[in-house]
Amino acid sequence: MSHDMRFIEVKNVCKWYNSTNGIVHTLDDISFSVARGEFVSIIGPSGCGKSTLIKLIGDLLEPSAGSIVVDGMTTEEARLKKMFSFVFQNPMLLPWRRVIDNVRLPLEILKREARDPADLLHMVGLSGFENSYPKELSGGMQQRVVLARALTFNPQILLMDEPFAGVDEFNRDALNIELLRIWSETGVTVIFITHSISEAVFLSDKVILLSSRPAKIKDILEINFLPRPRGKSLKESALFQETVKCLREKLE
Ligand code: ADP
Repeated sequence: MSHDMRFIEVKNVCKWYNSTNGIVHTLDDISFSVARGEFVSIIGPSGCGKSTLIKLIGDLLEPSAGSIVVDGMTTEEARLKKMFSFVFQNPMLLPWRRVIDNVRLPLEILKREARDPADLLHMVGLSGFENSYPKELSGGMQQRVVLARALTFNPQILLMDEPFAGVDEFNRDALNIELLRIWSETGVTVIFITHSISEAVFLSDKVILLSSRPAKIKDILEINFLPRPRGKSLKESALFQETVKCLREKLE
């Protein structure tokens, strides 16, 4: 396999936590690789360790066993090179700052070369809302602001932990299409956690299915047979619906 095919390599990763109730085994011998520019979703039962896995990749946690290599580096080296950006379910915007000033925040903290906040807002479809306050925006719009902010330093890897879980279905579909457009425009590699099988199929090149805790890899499905660019009508196709059904059966 070429180097780009193994852009992110998760090798035999285990993770256990020492909690007040004893040791919690979350991930059990997880191995997979992600190609540069790939869109990969992770799906599995609540509490199996999906967030843990994404935090390990982004160097917010350390594995108890196994290793993760990112573009030939340790996760720490990749983090220090600002390769990662996170988008969590909770928008985490500062309520007293205008939209544009929320997007500008990372620039103020880390003075490095970065994308223009107004361009980023345009990219996520929020031109005209620069001077609004977060509370004046819907949940979906707030997540667009977060996405714009996450793209400030042109991250190579976007780690998204159920980013649209709090958004209604109609707006979620629109956000998914926007996200795919941004993904193809920027070439960013995305690792995306979701509870929605349909969302995973719609977005991904590859879906990683985890079992309940301690999570093992149940299956890895390549979704490369669904054509791109993907639009709303794809969801009505028999092929899409068959794929969702097949994935659901595998998860049961
Ligand atoms: P998921 O994202 O799949 O819902 P998580 O990765 O958030 O799962 O959590 C996996 C398991 O690890 C859960 O049982 C959770 O309670 C436990 N866990 C997560 N973080 C910690 C921690 N810091 N200390 C102890 N246990 C934790």
